[in-house]
This record gives sequence, C-alpha cells and structure tokens, in this order.
Amino acid sequence: MEKRDILSMTLDELTMDIKEMGQPKYRAAQIYKWLHEKKISDFSEMLDLPLALRTKLDVEYCIKHLFIARRLESCMDNTVKYLYRLSDGQHVETVLMSYRHGWRLCISTQVGCKMGCQFCASTIAGYVRNLTASEMLRQIDETERDAGVTVSGIVLMGIGEPLDNFENVMRFLELLSDPQGRKMSLRHVTLSTCGIVPRMRELADKQTGLTLAVSLHNPTDAGRSAVMPVNRRYPLSELMEACRYYFSRTGRRVTFEYAVMQGENDTEADARALAGLLKGQQAHVNLIPVNSVKERSYHATRKAAQDFMERLERHGVHATVRRTLGSDIEAACGQLRHEADSQQA
Ligand code: SAH
Repeated sequence: MEKRDILSMTLDELTMDIKEMGQPKYRAAQIYKWLHEKKISDFSEMLDLPLALRTKLDVEYCIKHLFIARRLESCMDNTVKYLYRLSDGQHVETVLMSYRHGWRLCISTQVGCKMGCQFCASTIAGYVRNLTASEMLRQIDETERDAGVTVSGIVLMGIGEPLDNFENVMRFLELLSDPQGRKMSLRHVTLSTCGIVPRMRELADKQTGLTLAVSLHNPTDAGRSAVMPVNRRYPLSELMEACRYYFSRTGRRVTFEYAVMQGENDTEADARALAGLLKGQQAHVNLIPVNSVKERSYHATRKAAQDFMERLERHGVHATVRRTLGSDIEAACGQLRHEADSQQA
C-alpha cells in the first residue's frame, strides 16, 4: 500500500489518525509542529516522540521531498530559478525574486498544463499531473533552506493552472495560513488564473483574502480564443462577470495580466477594446513584454510594452509595465522544465 502523504494533512486529519492509533491527541500537535514549523524531513528527527511511534509513522506515512535538479542565478538581479525533481522523477520550476518588501516566491501547481495557451512554454508538452499540497509547500521550504531566506510573499504563477487543481491548492492555502502552523497571511498570496469561471466564483465564496490575478492577454473574444483555448469555454463576458463577482464578495480588486505581443494585441484598437472591457472597474493592468519561447513566434520589446501602456493611459486605464526579472535565466514559466524534458527525450 502507498504511504500517506503526511505533509498534506491538516491538523484535524492528523489528530483523527493519531486517536485511531490509540495515541494521545497531543501527539498530533507535536508531529504537526515538526512538519510545519521545524520543517524536518525524516521521522527520526521527531525527538519528543517515542521511538515506537516514530517507527510506526515511518511505515504508514511519507514526508515529501524535492531535489534541486538545476539552480540558475541571474547576473542581472537577485532572481534564482530552481528546477525541482519530484519523488516520481517529474520536474517543476520555482522562481525566487527579491522585491521592495522582501522575497517573493513563484511556485508551480501542476506538472505541465492542460490549458494550451499559445504563448506559454508550460503547455507545450501537455499535462502530466497535479501537485499535492505538500509538493507546493516543499517548493517554499526547499528554496528557503537553499537560499537562506524567509519568503514573505507567494505567487501561484509557475507551471500549471491553479484553479484546475482546485482541491490541492485550497488545501495548500489552508496549511500555509494555519495559525497553528505556518501562519502566513493570505494577503501575501496572489493566485493567477487563465479564467476558469466557476472556480473563480467558488474561490470568491471562500473569502480567503488572497489577490486574484487574471491572465487576459487579449481584449476580444476572437483574439483571445485564438491564443487561449479556455476563452472558447468561458468567454470574456462571463470572465468579466466573475471578476466583478470576486470583487463584490471579497472587496479585493482583481488584477489583470497582459503579455504584450507586438502586432498581435498592442494596437490602438486593442487599447480601445481593453478600455471598454474594463470600464467602471478601476482595474489595474500588469503589462509584461511576452517572453519569446523557441517554439513560438511571439515577441515584444520593453519599449512596445511601454508604448501600449501609454495608449491605455490615454483611454483611462491604469497600467504598469512589470519588471522583467531574471530574463537572462529564462525565468518565464515552463521554459526550464521544457528544456530538461526535451534533453532527456
Ligand atoms: N495558469 C495560470 C498561472 C500560470 S502562468 C495563468 O494562466 O494565469 C503565469 C502568467 O505568465 C500568466 O499570466 C501567463 O499567461 C503568463 N505567461 C505565460 N507564458 C508567457 C510568456 N511567454 N510571456 C509572458 N507571460 C507569459
């Protein structure tokens, strides 16, 4: 029988198991503390547990690990990109970035992605599997340990579509913010989605306090459907309605991600259409010059993104051009994993 993934369990679940074993309840709290505060990686390190219990835990449960397969440091800024190998040999990417208030970590939520966005490297080789909550937590633990830093913000913008792995992502958020464990306020977490409308509504209802970012990239249904297949299922009218719902339920404004692709989505007509779409929302748009992916022909200079920003401003839309961190180490999502897999093939 496969061992249970103990790092993905909540304290309540652990307490139930411990009671079933005939152990006193406080043992669950001790174990949980070793896992989520001391972040140990082996049951033998749980020094305040009786040896017999440690041995029993080791038989029935596993503690997930990640291994650093590659580590790239940017020469231009403090960005570090990790390629992590998971216990089944799959790979995901995690990017550590320094910003004004500390360190922010961009984590992956799936191995590969089903969404098929045309400009994105994560999707080229298709979808393999969901990450467990523990594999998301371990991206934080392993990076903090290796880099010797404490991460103060998390963005779910690595490989995968977080709302396509809803249950595990919700579990990850619960464990991350547990006042009895890791204690991170979800105000410091941003979740980015390509626009899975029913899940956006569900997320709004959960009132987690996190920031929702929506990958827009094109202001018309025809244009967006051509590059983002998800738009055929959930067109812009439904997407924008879900964004308004998110704001009305949570009081938190949705931010919009827009990868500028020269000649594709940065014309005057695009600026006008985008202004129309966001009208009345006081929305903020994050512009980023698209990262060129070998297999695709999209490209943009920083100047093109700035020009589009000015166009948008003239239409009354607030936009900023996001800092492109670690461009020398291919910090755009999915590129490193894709390369590692093509080299192996
Ligand atoms: N699936 C989620 C999160 C992962 S992608 C989503 O779609 O939002 C994180 C962000 O990077 C998204 O906004 C995505 O559209 C964007 N992105 C993907 N490939 C890119 C590229 N080549 N250049 C610029 N941004 C890209």
